[in-house]
Amino acid sequence: MKTDNVEYTTFSGWVDPPVDVLPALAGDLTCDVVVIGGGINGMSTALRLTERGQDVVLLEAEFCGHGSSSRNAGQLAGAPGGDLQLINLFHRKKMPGMIRLAEHAAHHVEDFITKHDIDCDYEPTGNTFAAVSRGQMGRARRVAKIIERAGGHVEVGTSEELGIPRGFVGGMREVVGGIMNPGKFTMGMRRVLVDSSARVFEQTKVTDVTRERGQVVLATPRGQVRANKVVLATNAFAGEWDITPPRLSVPIWIIEMETEPIDPDRLAALGWTSRSGLVTQHAIMENYRVTPRNTIVFGVRRLERGTTYPLPQKTPDPALVEELAHAFSTRFPALADVAVERTWGGWIAITSSWLPLAGQIDANVFYSIACNGHGLAQAPYVGTLIADLVVDGERHEDLETLWTEKPTFPRPMMMGRLGLRTIWAVDRFNDLVNGSRRNARRGAQKTTGPTTAQYDLWR
Ligand SMILES: Cc1cc2nc3c(=O)[nH]c(=O)nc-3n(C[C@H](O)[C@H](O)[C@H](O)COP(=O)(O)OP(=O)(O)OC[C@H]3O[C@@H](n4cnc5c(N)ncnc54)[C@H](O)[C@@H]3O)c2cc1C
Repeated sequence: MKTDNVEYTTFSGWVDPPVDVLPALAGDLTCDVVVIGGGINGMSTALRLTERGQDVVLLEAEFCGHGSSSRNAGQLAGAPGGDLQLINLFHRKKMPGMIRLAEHAAHHVEDFITKHDIDCDYEPTGNTFAAVSRGQMGRARRVAKIIERAGGHVEVGTSEELGIPRGFVGGMREVVGGIMNPGKFTMGMRRVLVDSSARVFEQTKVTDVTRERGQVVLATPRGQVRANKVVLATNAFAGEWDITPPRLSVPIWIIEMETEPIDPDRLAALGWTSRSGLVTQHAIMENYRVTPRNTIVFGVRRLERGTTYPLPQKTPDPALVEELAHAFSTRFPALADVAVERTWGGWIAITSSWLPLAGQIDANVFYSIACNGHGLAQAPYVGTLIADLVVDGERHEDLETLWTEKPTFPRPMMMGRLGLRTIWAVDRFNDLVNGSRRNARRGAQKTTGPTTAQYDLWR
């Protein structure tokens, strides 16, 4: 795969930043509820609060949609994120609730797109846990059983049966959900918010949250907001303040890349008839999806821990771009000559349980956070449920599923640099073994250079 002319961007490959960024807060004001963070979580919270008749202020450090909401792969998941076998082992009782939440979340986003007529190229294709080996196929089957037992909707099959590229063995397709342009979706939501009665201030970073006489007071560089309640919706950036519970989540940097437009006949020859988004069954997945421009967007494979706040604006590491490009050539050998056009990345928040979380720090301070890289569906839905809780004082059963009574969290395991490197190395070792088996099956003893999988491991 060609990587000699890649555009590295610090924002997103899906859309440009808005040209009408709103002015910063200047002066002091009061309101019923203030929302901090203008991603799809915070914007949904604010929108729902306005629908419920609240006087709402939303404060966003850059512009609404600046965070991972505009940067993600656009795969609207119909199942929870994380290792579902592990989650099932440690949180079995929560599984039915998690599955219900995930499916409701995907439908909620679909309804939002329809209601507001948001042009975001949504296709209800579902997403597939795609297996690159027999071992991964076994894992997909086991996960399918867990999801079905918990009431979810999936189908298992070979690549032909599921209509996914023939380079994959097969997999498990989440029937609910699909693919979209997340940049257009997020900017569409921003437009709905700006047109609503919420007072939105962009370029307004909240620097402190304090309590005063039963209210909350938010400090920003050029003014303060006094409110009865505050909702923290700052995702990976939440660790920047004292008010955030310690160890709530760890910030992780992940990347996406996009190919140049591919000849439609060559794309058709892959057998990707379902157009379903794909996530491999590695411990750290690779994702692949087609776009209406006949490009393929793909990414992840490696997680990078953020260690200092404020989290930096970054471009992807060229070594990881090379590694992902090489993985692409392995999964799509017929497209090995295609060029990478652009790459970008973003910060996600991972919790120690790998479950999304919501809760209250005290009577006035709510948080909903850390959809563990699955927030495209869940973040807007959970934001809406939090808004309803703020107004009604009652928790919807889906919010109950991820509700945390006390904001105390254990230290996340394997999320340090060494832990993440180890998980990556185990994935590469498995690729190596699978590559060797594949070669043996093909009788490829005459190979002169390293196999693809060996190359992977040596990096
Ligand atoms: C590369 C990548 C690929 C992904 N792929 C997928 C996918 O295919 N499917 C999926 O479901 N999920 C995916 N995700 C995850 C998904 O994008 C997130 O879970 C979701 O967007 C979280 O939304 P959010 O509103 O919570 O966070 P964000 O969009 O990150 O929003 C947080 C906002 O808070 C603002 N903020 C932070 N600090 C302050 C402050 N002090 N004051 C004011 N504002 C502040 C930030 O500027 C930001 O705009 C991916 C993420 C990335 C990065």
